[in-house]
Amino acid sequence: MKLVVIGSGIAGIVAALRARTLKREVLLVSQGKSATSRSLGVVDVLGYLNGEEVKTPEEGIKTLAETKEEHPYSLLGFKKVAESLNFFKSMAEKAGIPFKGSIEKNIHVATQFGTVKPTCLALEKVYNARVEEWHSRAVAIAGKEERNFNPGFVAASLAELLPKLGIAQPARISASEHGDLVIKPLKQVAAGEKAYALPMLGDGSFIAQKLLEHAVKLGVKVVEDRIDRARVEGGEVKEVMGRESYNGDAFILATGDWVGGGLLGLKEMVLGLELLRVEGKLVRKTPFPEKGHPYSRVGVKVDESLSPFYRGEKISNLKVAGALLGGYDYCTEKSGWGVAIASAYVAGGME
Ligand SMILES: Cc1cc2nc3c(=O)[nH]c(=O)nc-3n(C[C@H](O)[C@H](O)[C@H](O)COP(=O)(O)OP(=O)(O)OC[C@H]3O[C@@H](n4cnc5c(N)ncnc54)[C@H](O)[C@@H]3O)c2cc1C
Repeated sequence: MKLVVIGSGIAGIVAALRARTLKREVLLVSQGKSATSRSLGVVDVLGYLNGEEVKTPEEGIKTLAETKEEHPYSLLGFKKVAESLNFFKSMAEKAGIPFKGSIEKNIHVATQFGTVKPTCLALEKVYNARVEEWHSRAVAIAGKEERNFNPGFVAASLAELLPKLGIAQPARISASEHGDLVIKPLKQVAAGEKAYALPMLGDGSFIAQKLLEHAVKLGVKVVEDRIDRARVEGGEVKEVMGRESYNGDAFILATGDWVGGGLLGLKEMVLGLELLRVEGKLVRKTPFPEKGHPYSRVGVKVDESLSPFYRGEKISNLKVAGALLGGYDYCTEKSGWGVAIASAYVAGGME
């Protein structure tokens, strides 16, 4: 089977990896910016549900299945989500960037903004620096000051925030090079240095690059092109077109949302696929309402196998993965890479 994957964010890369491990011929076509490259590179699976923090993604995903049937996790089912994270970990290990963590338990990581967020999997160096490890220890936020990173500011914010969160009570948090736990931005940790890492916006780019290199090593072919149309006949996509045309037996659309360019306003940009109807007013007075903006849940409507609908007809040889999917809000849920990885794993595994 020849598979064409469009988009090289985390969803496109994982879909290509999965399909290649199943011995498909895989062409990855992509061009432009991605949310993945701007992200912190920690795998959020489910951090919040209905405004409450989720301690165990496993339980949260099972609750979602009973309450939000249009959510991608509900369509995929818990078992596939769990499988996809194991697949991701094994690929990351092979790509030389081991991840740690489990779907059974969220951890908390500090960020470059001096905040703390729940997440599920993280690069080993980030995982080892999780806030749960800070109890009774002298924590040093170290490293060179750079644009968007000021160790003094991060240390002071965390010193104020942590007692309120009750996750761990460090003996001391300071901006210095000395402590039981010396934490620096990932890119400032030299190879072999015993320092732990603070995730930074943009770390996702480094992780995606390593995974993409591994995909290429496995035989995935990569082409730079911006796809802007497709030929659909008899309920199937026959080819997609940008500067060149690319034909295949099956296709995966992983073009992201408004950040990646897969969505513009209320339009899916390649085929004009049907979108999931979202409840709530899309025009709001505040751009970031506490419970999330309804626009964040806008995305392509799919069936359980992730096939979308085009002019009222299901397209069986096309699957949609990642942020282009509708029915969820990665900002308020903290489920960005989790949904991308799970949907890409299922899409890439299509027969
Ligand atoms: C600032 C920020 C920080 C975040 N941090 C985290 C985090 O730490 N952890 C987490 O879990 N989630 C995080 N998220 C959410 C997460 O990054 C996204 O949910 C996830 O990266 C989406 O991946 P994707 O592959 O679906 O889309 P994208 O990463 O947006 O990738 C889409 C790809 O498709 C390509 N593309 C688009 N249109 C076309 C076209 N027509 N032709 C060819 N190629 C095309 C783009 O160039 C890009 O390569 C963050 C989001 C943002 C905005």
